[in-house]
Amino acid sequence: MRHKEIFEKQKEFYLTGKTKEIAFRLESLRKLQSAIKRYEPDITTALKKDLHRSEFDAYLSEIGPTLDEIKYVSKRLKTWAKPRKVPTPQVLMGSKSYVYPEPYGLTLIISPWNYPFNLAVMPLIGAIAAGNCVTLKPSEWAPHTSQVIMQMIKGIFEEEYIAVIEGDVETSKALLDLPFDHIFFTGSAQVGKTIMEKAAQTLTPVTLELGGKSPVIIDKDANIELAARRIVWGKWLNAGQTCVAPDYVLIHEERKDVWLAQLKQEIARFYGTDPLTSENYGHIVNERHFSRLEAFLADGEIVIGGKTDAQRRVIEPTVLTGVSWEAPVMQEEIFGPILPVFTYTDLDEAIAEIRKKEKPLALYFFSENEQNQEKVIRSLPFGGGCINDTIVHIGNPHLPFGGVGTSGLGNYHGKYSFDCFSHEKAIVKQTTQFDMPLRYSFTKNALNWLKK
Ligand code: NAD
Repeated sequence: MRHKEIFEKQKEFYLTGKTKEIAFRLESLRKLQSAIKRYEPDITTALKKDLHRSEFDAYLSEIGPTLDEIKYVSKRLKTWAKPRKVPTPQVLMGSKSYVYPEPYGLTLIISPWNYPFNLAVMPLIGAIAAGNCVTLKPSEWAPHTSQVIMQMIKGIFEEEYIAVIEGDVETSKALLDLPFDHIFFTGSAQVGKTIMEKAAQTLTPVTLELGGKSPVIIDKDANIELAARRIVWGKWLNAGQTCVAPDYVLIHEERKDVWLAQLKQEIARFYGTDPLTSENYGHIVNERHFSRLEAFLADGEIVIGGKTDAQRRVIEPTVLTGVSWEAPVMQEEIFGPILPVFTYTDLDEAIAEIRKKEKPLALYFFSENEQNQEKVIRSLPFGGGCINDTIVHIGNPHLPFGGVGTSGLGNYHGKYSFDCFSHEKAIVKQTTQFDMPLRYSFTKNALNWLKK
């Protein structure tokens, strides 16, 4: 099998120590940067074919972030990779203590279809920066983008260092049979469990970037106009097929009507009066997802949108009201352009409702009240989120990106990516100038000294 052969070659190459050299890592990042720039038109075309993404959206959410990340990481890599001196307690008098960041070795990255370029290349940047060899498996559901990634990587790296292996679930499973030193997986919670189970057999460390039902709360005092515009942007970007997209809305009862009216206006502003034919609007990835989403339309009263085009797999930006918490649309991550809206009269009620569900990947709160902002941040568990906005928290490289509980394990972006792909080796450098006999049990009064 080809992937086994590549794995063996990577093991050999890793042992040469080449990937650990800072100059080599920086040069690899530079090569990747110029390849992304060169391949920009191909990436854009592939994203259009796979998901009907616009050029603007492709740059904003796929190409741009990877170029920014390379710049950010390259500038700081030398400092991050240096051994860090840390304080030493008095009992270890005479010695010095350090943390040596070290690459894991051979890393496997498995990525999803929804941001097929970004979610393959962002972790790759972290893995290179930390000094690893990488096997990358892009998603079979974005075949054009997968092919461009393959060509791009093949053109700049030897496969003994970085290899792309295209394929479906079976390919992914075969790769998981190999004893990688670290697995970085982005995808559904369901598959995440399989990955973790598999990794448990070899005690391989895993990073799991998963999904969930990310709520939005719009409180009584929220800026309604901005709440509408920023939710339209975050929800219907890529037709709702975004891991951190708002999944459902909880709005204060008194603001519901005015917000819905504003939302309708904003949708028309973004996608025109016929979103089904808009060049700026994404399509659903495949027939299975299209039918799954179409069935959700029956779970409530359609107050905005609702039209579909099965042939091109498009569903209008759709808002549902009168949905039961027990309805199918509320039992799984929607991952599509349908937005159920619920109302509440007291913020505590909204918080209690969210708490009944699994810990989400993101949460968004729209309010002018700082006390309530703090209350929401501190009283609910979630991966990350925004106050008065949606999604933008993932664009700040100073912030970790990752979930908690069923929405993920571990995080990345910026320095967090470097850490994600590194092991922190703890070292004490002891003096030989003298010996501290008091720590030895044969020394008189050793116990009294220890207890001091
Ligand atoms: P998925 O879990 O079906 O597939 C992801 C990858 O895993 C693909 O490459 C696929 O080939 C592989 N795979 C699928 N089944 C497998 C199995 N049984 N064994 C081994 N490998 C397997 O996810 P998807 O449909 O591509 O993406 C959608 C999900 O990903 C959503 O839940 C979404 O929230 C989540 N997601 C999370 C993030 C994040 O950063 N946290 C980002 C994007 C998507």
